[in-house]
Amino acid sequence: SCGRTPLTAEGLSKSYGSLEIFTGVDLAIDRGSKVVVLGLNGAGKTTLLRLLAGLEKPDTGKVVPGHGLRLGYYAQEHETLDHEASVWENTRHLAPDAGAQELRNLLGSFLFSGEQLDQPAGTLSGGEKTRLALAGLVSSAANVLLLDEPTNNLDPASRAQVLDALRSYGGAVVLVTHDPGAVDALEPERVILLPDGTEDHWSDDYRELVQLA
Ligand code: ATP
Repeated sequence: SCGRTPLTAEGLSKSYGSLEIFTGVDLAIDRGSKVVVLGLNGAGKTTLLRLLAGLEKPDTGKVVPGHGLRLGYYAQEHETLDHEASVWENTRHLAPDAGAQELRNLLGSFLFSGEQLDQPAGTLSGGEKTRLALAGLVSSAANVLLLDEPTNNLDPASRAQVLDALRSYGGAVVLVTHDPGAVDALEPERVILLPDGTEDHWSDDYRELVQLA
């Protein structure tokens, strides 16, 4: 078909040595759908994203990229910004066909004021760099965004605003986090919990989500 489902994963399992990270994870990422993957430190969230991105192979199961899949990937430590270029140029570069007003609005939804558009990306704060990288992904030609803890270094107001912008984004989002609050903000169609065998450590928020899942 023409790919109602840009990305599908079936029966994914992954171990490192004798350490079983997860087993039997199924996932169908429909066009424009939002998925949140929750789990504690070490539960395998980054590993799952790397499998979905084809950066690593599962032990069992398979990842099937649909026709027309264009992946965008965000990981804090793999920064993709051009530090010499301005905020505006960084976004423009990824969306050469977008109108100027459209881009200004997009950058506004990621909390960039008019005065900041000419600032070199290298001089932005950590949280501002994160916001710019996410604005770039949203404006790019990607149609499935794999986001690894994209709100980690954002203050509470920025976090709420960025999650709001991602909720309105037309493409699909797979957002990995250990923040259960992201579920309320993104209103995902699906929440995947990666248990890590230490459920005693789960907070009440997690327990509630487990019951919902
Ligand atoms: P965090 O919330 O801390 O980012 P995470 O859920 O993203 O955690 P992963 O980075 O996916 O967790 O790691 C899952 C587990 O697999 C961890 O215990 C990690 O130490 C282990 N692991 C990951 N990669 C390897 C590897 N190449 N070799 C051995 N162990 C690994």
